[in-house]
Formats: sequence, C-alpha cells, structure tokens
Amino acid sequence: MTHSRRTFLAGTAATGIVTIIPFTTRAMGHGGDMFETSQGPVTVHPIEHASIVLETPIGVIYVDPVGDAGLYDGLPAPDLVLVTHEHGDHYNAETLAALIPSDAPTPLVTNPAVFDMLPDDLKARATSLANGGTMSFAGTVIDAIPAYNMTEGRTNFHPQGRDNGYVLTMGDFRIYISGDTEDIPEMRALADIDLCFLCMNLPFTMTAEAAASAVQEFQPTYVYPYHYRGRDDGTQDPQEFAALVGDASEVKFADWYGEGGV
Ligand code: ZN
Ligand code: ZN
Repeated sequence: MTHSRRTFLAGTAATGIVTIIPFTTRAMGHGGDMFETSQGPVTVHPIEHASIVLETPIGVIYVDPVGDAGLYDGLPAPDLVLVTHEHGDHYNAETLAALIPSDAPTPLVTNPAVFDMLPDDLKARATSLANGGTMSFAGTVIDAIPAYNMTEGRTNFHPQGRDNGYVLTMGDFRIYISGDTEDIPEMRALADIDLCFLCMNLPFTMTAEAAASAVQEFQPTYVYPYHYRGRDDGTQDPQEFAALVGDASEVKFADWYGEGGV
C-alpha cells in the first residue's frame, strides 16, 4: 500500500496539486491533498466514509462529522459545519456537541429534517436550508442540491425533497458534496465543479457505474469517490469507478476506511 501511495503522490505532482505528506498516526492520518484556488488553498482531510474536513480560504468546514471526536484530533476546530441528512453516518448530535466550541459562533447548516431534530443549543446556531435554497457564508455561496433515491424500492432511504448535497462557490472554485443520492438529473446538470465528493454504495446510493456515468456528464475537474462501503455486496470499488470515469475527471483516492492505503 505504501508503494501505491508513493505512486499516487508522484502522479499528482505533474498536475499542479501540492500534496501534503500524510501523517503517520491514525488520528492524524487524514492530512490530504491541497488544491490551489484564486482565493487561497483548499486542503482536503478525509476523515471516514462520509465525514470530511476542508481547510479553506473562508475557514475550516466540517462536512457530516460523525464518530468519535478523537478522529478529529489534530485538526483545527470548525468555522462552519454542514450536515446533509439525518442518517447516523452523516449526523450525530453528540459528535457535533463535542466538536463545536461552545464559546465560538460556529454556524451549522442542515437540511430542514435535521434542523427539526437538533438539540436546542445546536439549533440556536443552525440554518435550515432546503433543496434549492442558497445562502452566503463569509462571501462563499452555499447551495443546497437535492439528494435522493429514484429506484423503486429504495426511495424510502432518501425520499426526494428531504436531504441535501451542497455546492460551495468560493470565488471561481466550486466544491460539490453529493450527500447520499443516486445519479439524479440535478447532479448531472451541475456545471463548473472543480472538486467533487461522490457517494457510491448499495442499496443506499448508487453503483460505481452510475456514479461514473454521472461524472462523465458533469465532468468535475477532480472527484473523490467516498461513502463506498455498503451492505453485504453493496460495497463499490473506487478503482473500478476510476477506470469507468476515464479522462472525464481526475479521480482522487483517500483512506476513508482507516486501512492506511488509498
Ligand atoms: Zn443516508
Ligand atoms: Zn450515508
């Protein structure tokens, strides 16, 4: 696995991405790739499965932080927290309470269903953003993108209209976080995405084939497959995804499942 990461690092050098040397311990093991933008660098720290920390020109953004607070040791506290939906791999009130400094004004942005279930102290700092909603934070536009299942028999997992993906527009750099969704038309219609986090697993989201087909249509510059372990044989192979994506996007791999490789 060490060899493959070294190959990966060498492979990114020619693309203009500066890659930070990963830390060696698990708690610090998610020092990730840095992307230069006109506003300043964006550094991706993959935490686990669906949880991401982004260091950005507008501050530190935690996306769907769940799990033990120790997973976030060594990372700066959040300046903004985004929650896509209520499932336990995306929303955990105890994790949020542990990670958000009580003496800081850190805002939360959630879909309306999560907003309604937040404890009062978190709700007081939260903004409810429904599908199609938009807001601004420190000059960055945050758009709530639909995220839902459309396959018969699976629509109860993520009913249309309830859950969010997010697009963050920082100057001319646009980040799309899919949340849990199938390859819906609203995702395929996205334009000018620079950095994408795309879910794939079954039965909850989509196959690697569907994810790759969508990427070929909206063509983000960089795409991280994430959220790719599923139930039983529903785990999707990020390498297979990359092969199917081909030249449509540059696929970025990360150690989402704590195995030390990519
Ligand atoms: Zn979900
Ligand atoms: Zn999920």
